[in-house]
Amino acid sequence: MDKNIAVIGCGYWGKNQVRNFAELGALHTIRNSSPVVLSQFAAIYPDAKRETSYERILANSGIKGWVCKCGVTLKFDRNNKAQCPDCGKMYQQMSREHIILCQGGKE
Ligand SMILES: [Zn+2]
Repeated sequence: MDKNIAVIGCGYWGKNQVRNFAELGALHTIRNSSPVVLSQFAAIYPDAKRETSYERILANSGIKGWVCKCGVTLKFDRNNKAQCPDCGKMYQQMSREHIILCQGGKE
């Protein structure tokens, strides 16, 4: 399997997704807002890239899929919006290089 999945968030649920995708050999990047949290993942998943920025993840052409921390693959609609059906987080893709998290949903 190609390593082309970025997991957004690696907290309580997200770390399970990180582990799952790492075991599948598909984990490309772990995204979290906290460099401290990311550094904890570095020891466990030395091959995975770590990123605090959504923009840089989106700009990385090696990443083909976005997965919310819940494990749900995000599909962006015609308005470039995506909502995780599980936790309710709303994502907005502003451009190829710019994506923002609009709404927090539950943690
Ligand atoms: Zn979610």
